[in-house]
Amino acid sequence: MQNFELFTPTNYIFGKGQIEKLSKVIPQGAKILLAYGGGSIFKNGVHEQVIKSLEGYEIVEFGGIEPNPHFETLMKAVEVIKEKNLDFILAVGGGSVIDGVKFISVAVNFEGNPIDLLQKKAPITGTPVPFGTVLTLPATGSEMNSSTVVTIAKTQEKLSFGGPALYPQFSVCDPTTIASLPKRQIENGIVDAFTHVMEQYMTYPQDAYLQDRIAEGILQTLIEIGPKVVENPSDYKLASNFMWSCTMALNGLLNKGVITDWTTHMIGHELTALYGIDHARTLAIIAPNLYTVMFETKKEKLTQYGKRIFNLTGSDDEIAKEAINKTVEFFHLMGMDTKLSEYTEDYKKSADFIVERFENRGWKALGEKQNITPEKVHKIVEASY
Ligand code: NAP
Ligand code: FE
Repeated sequence: MQNFELFTPTNYIFGKGQIEKLSKVIPQGAKILLAYGGGSIFKNGVHEQVIKSLEGYEIVEFGGIEPNPHFETLMKAVEVIKEKNLDFILAVGGGSVIDGVKFISVAVNFEGNPIDLLQKKAPITGTPVPFGTVLTLPATGSEMNSSTVVTIAKTQEKLSFGGPALYPQFSVCDPTTIASLPKRQIENGIVDAFTHVMEQYMTYPQDAYLQDRIAEGILQTLIEIGPKVVENPSDYKLASNFMWSCTMALNGLLNKGVITDWTTHMIGHELTALYGIDHARTLAIIAPNLYTVMFETKKEKLTQYGKRIFNLTGSDDEIAKEAINKTVEFFHLMGMDTKLSEYTEDYKKSADFIVERFENRGWKALGEKQNITPEKVHKIVEASY
């Protein structure tokens, strides 16, 4: 096992009716920026619950944080915080609103141009504004992790960064909030969480046996509940297991002691930046082709995955190949198209474009064995057409 430190400072507040606890976890007298997205929180009653819980606080609302949050939009929120002298941020929404708030939190007092946090991975300076979240879309794990992904609309770059400052102080996760989710977003949530597990699990050699079993437990749970929760998001049993599985998939527990390979996400981010394809759908396009192109590297782990998750039998080669097919089958069952050409007619430029971008960023050797070279990235993207 690799050495590790486990630091998870987020107060995770889970369950029905927990939004009413907000006033217990936000300091009395705090002046709050309430950040949200396109308005779903007004339709499903979450806004009302939040406001009721925060009676007596000074609240300034900031809406319009878009899916794949834009740097340009977030900088407007930074201005509001400075202008009104606010000292706490509450994110109410899905991963985009939460990621957006993470960026806003560190951008307010950053010494320099906050775009450098994204483009130059500049170290965080200045005191971040404390923030908490109310999660309404299980998927990203952002409610309990220290990463953010922000899109610079002007340059079509989707970039991530992280650090201990980006852990939410608390996250209120009430599974009843998902009842209003459109099918497409539930499908996205299941597949995003599934791929988060795979990025931390599908590496070899690996000797973190407990991590493997936890990962496999989450994969099995997502496979078991995924199709059902899409049909019935009001079922509390399904909704609660969905929400907790998504958090557990990326709350910093699975990656302890293991080597990870986030290449699927890295390529996927480029597809969203280029074509606006939903984050999870880009992962469903790329992951199976990555496993196919990197078959020799991933074979042992694919075999373990095939045996333990899908009960496959046969030779290792047969099991490993069939395990990739089963993954694609699951993605299809979750409503994903898995070919890039099913999303855009303009797909042919993408392999050259992505390789050029990776090379410009100095990303020449990805994957757990550092053997996903630019040529391999090109092959993976081409195989996805
Ligand atoms: P999202 O972009 O936050 O939300 C997608 C859509 O779902 C929005 O239109 C939103 O509407 C709607 N929605 C949210 N909750 C709803 C509810 N309860 N009822 C009805 N509609 C609801 O989706 P996401 O998948 O959670 O986040 C995706 C982003 O997270 C991407 O940028 C991705 O790259 C990033 N990400 C981050 C991490 C991380 O570790 N930080 C990991 C993976 C992915 P409103 O805007 O109207 O609320
Ligand atoms: Fe993701």
